[in-house]
Amino acid sequence: MDPVVTRFAPSPTGRLHVGHAYSAIRAHDHARSRGGRLLLRIEDIDGTRSRPEHVAAILLDLAWLGLTWDGEVIHQSRRLDRYAAALERLRAMGLLYPCFCTRAEIAEAMSAPHGAAPLYPGTCRAIVEPDLSRPHAWRLDMAAAVARTGALEWSDAGRIVPGDPLALGDVVLARKDAPASYHLAVTVDDAAQGVTDVVRGVDLFAATHVHRLLQALLGLPVPRWHHHALLTGADGERLAKRHGAPALAVLRERGEDGRALAERLRAGDFPKAAVVPTFTS
Ligand code: GLU
Repeated sequence: MDPVVTRFAPSPTGRLHVGHAYSAIRAHDHARSRGGRLLLRIEDIDGTRSRPEHVAAILLDLAWLGLTWDGEVIHQSRRLDRYAAALERLRAMGLLYPCFCTRAEIAEAMSAPHGAAPLYPGTCRAIVEPDLSRPHAWRLDMAAAVARTGALEWSDAGRIVPGDPLALGDVVLARKDAPASYHLAVTVDDAAQGVTDVVRGVDLFAATHVHRLLQALLGLPVPRWHHHALLTGADGERLAKRHGAPALAVLRERGEDGRALAERLRAGDFPKAAVVPTFTS
């Protein structure tokens, strides 16, 4: 088997909390226990929300936890030409359409099948002569894409998962305010960096259907996925900044022992959510 390559891919839009630390440790240990490599990728395509000071803090946080990574740190904001090239290939296949909808229009038009995340109803798919001088995103025509690839599957922690990208609808691949979306950038980069194993939170489980589809469309290699449970607070709520989880930087600056925290995370000292959240992006 090829050497294992994993990655930790934080978005520097805020400070890391203990949930991020757990994810980084899972990716790190997955690689290290197999004699493999851990890559660090800064997912900063969102130019309005990403901040250099968060990038600096991420590097300090990881070192404080006792985690090491291999090779140079990749910044997505410096790789936009690669995402543009992938987007162009998909456009040439006739699988993209421009979307002029505003956030408010989308919110109003969203259709939510029973219990599922709301889906974009495809309003702009029907436009015959789009005016590309107006601000627009690019969406994937999901039905057309699925018709092209046929049924797909992927592996999560060794189990075969049947692909279900239609459940996410016509996802955005290039935003009005950013030349790529998370889905496109992550797919292009995992392939470019030779990632063999994607270790990340189960909040991204549904997104993997889209990534698997994009790999098939773009002829990219298919990694193995390992989605892990999300940590919760004592109240059972998922740890996230909005629930007031302490930032790693705060613990670090307070002089707490990062390696000891990492050991507690490895030992399973923190509660985990049983419920699989739905991906909504
Ligand atoms: N950048 C994403 C985040 O911080 C993670 C991407 C991934 O692991 O695929 O949530």
